[in-house]
Amino acid sequence: MTASSSNLASTPRLRVAPSPTGDPHVGTAYMSLFNLAFARHEGGSFVLRIEDTDRARFRADSEEQIFATLRWLGLAWDEGPDVGGPYAPYRQSERLDTYRPYVEKLLADGHAYYCWCSAERLAQMRAEQQASKSSVTGYDRLCLGKTREERAELPGFTPTPVVRMRIPDDAPLVFDDLIRGETKAPPPDDQVIFKADGFPTYHLAVVVDDHEMGITHVVRGEEWISSTPKHLLLYRWLGLPEPRFAHMPLLRNTDKSKISKRKNPAARLTWFQQEGYLPEALVNFLALLAYPPITEEGPEGSVEREVFSFEEFAQHFDWSKVNPVGPIFDLGKLDWLNGLYIRELEVKELAARLLPFLVEAGVLPPRPSLGELGRLEEVTALIQPRLTHLTKAADQVRPYFVADDELVIDPDARAQLKENAAQVLDAAIQRLEALPDRQGDLVTGDGRGWEHENIQAQLRAALVDELGLKPKFAFAPLRTAISGARVSPPLFESMEILGRHSSLARLRALRASL
Ligand code: GLU
Repeated sequence: MTASSSNLASTPRLRVAPSPTGDPHVGTAYMSLFNLAFARHEGGSFVLRIEDTDRARFRADSEEQIFATLRWLGLAWDEGPDVGGPYAPYRQSERLDTYRPYVEKLLADGHAYYCWCSAERLAQMRAEQQASKSSVTGYDRLCLGKTREERAELPGFTPTPVVRMRIPDDAPLVFDDLIRGETKAPPPDDQVIFKADGFPTYHLAVVVDDHEMGITHVVRGEEWISSTPKHLLLYRWLGLPEPRFAHMPLLRNTDKSKISKRKNPAARLTWFQQEGYLPEALVNFLALLAYPPITEEGPEGSVEREVFSFEEFAQHFDWSKVNPVGPIFDLGKLDWLNGLYIRELEVKELAARLLPFLVEAGVLPPRPSLGELGRLEEVTALIQPRLTHLTKAADQVRPYFVADDELVIDPDARAQLKENAAQVLDAAIQRLEALPDRQGDLVTGDGRGWEHENIQAQLRAALVDELGLKPKFAFAPLRTAISGARVSPPLFESMEILGRHSSLARLRALRASL
């Protein structure tokens, strides 16, 4: 810890500072997760700040999406634009008055200067630097030391200036990173810190706000390492205590390229919602991208555990365990975790999570009846063991909610019916007609009610024992009649859920269509 940073509050304050430039990036969740885990580990606070100073890339609906997706993941903030807090406002566009005095001070102290160069002049300067292969890059300081009048005499002048940092030769290029240890960054350029539109750039706003909001630890993506010297200079010039820095490794595709929203749908946080991932599975997955399995001491020595909750992650959190090497974003691993979390849910809970997807798919009405909800729970229990994504439930659940005469038989399932299908269905119908209905919820216990054990026993006797069919062939036509498909949730349980009347109606309908 540097001498100046000891001025900071002893209770850690962390923040995530997304820019509302479109669908929230998965990196925003990843960054929030690590910030929040450390904040919780230390009993500190977590702030959400909206960095909307880039007006060209600003998108109005993006902020709501950031709130909604982070809430969905359970990564809640203690202070932010929507919940308020002692350092409000938490939106940079509402803090413009805050930045002014800092800019004035930097100008007055000679650490910053006005620049009137037009975009065309800057483009031309860059092109010339490139063409001459000169080792000099960055702004050529044409405006440095000039008054507005002096500069106006020269070509490439614009009336509204920007403000640039005057980077000294001895800019601090080395800093201590919580994840990477001693970290070196390249020398910076005379960075613009205040734009012609009256907005600060990220570099000024981030330093001012992190200071004003009492942020003690700046945890952000590794792409900001090269900006850190500029931020350190601003802290130094303004006489502000420095926070600690932790630069998280960037998420990468399997081909090692950076995850971008243009190329990879999984870079968008909303994609995970749409695809039927559970938030707890995604949180666990994001943690594992840069963090090893949790190690616990058990009676038989230490055990490693890849599956852990946010609370467990926060409880074990330690910066020294974060892996600085770019993690590969392997969705196969997420699919595996998702299935695992789906199986661990209470049936009632899983049914509740499936509901919006089923409504969306038109399987259930937006306000289902109690009877429909009861049936949904029964069906959910049947499909739970093999479900991998919430989106995959609709096709499996639909047959339990369509009228018998509206059940669609897959052409594919019909095509694989064997010649003896009619004989099999006749035998099944005859046998099941003799099996009485359930007496309400009363299980008769004499093997004679419409319960799945009895249905199975009767069908086995009729088809396997009497007709001599192999079970696999015996039950295929029944499965198709009941579900319309070749593959379905367990057959006898399905028939119990549908009830005697529907099951027989479906068997008869397929028989009649042969
Ligand atoms: N607004 C920046 C971003 O969206 C935040 C970087 C930081 O956390 O300092 O990446």
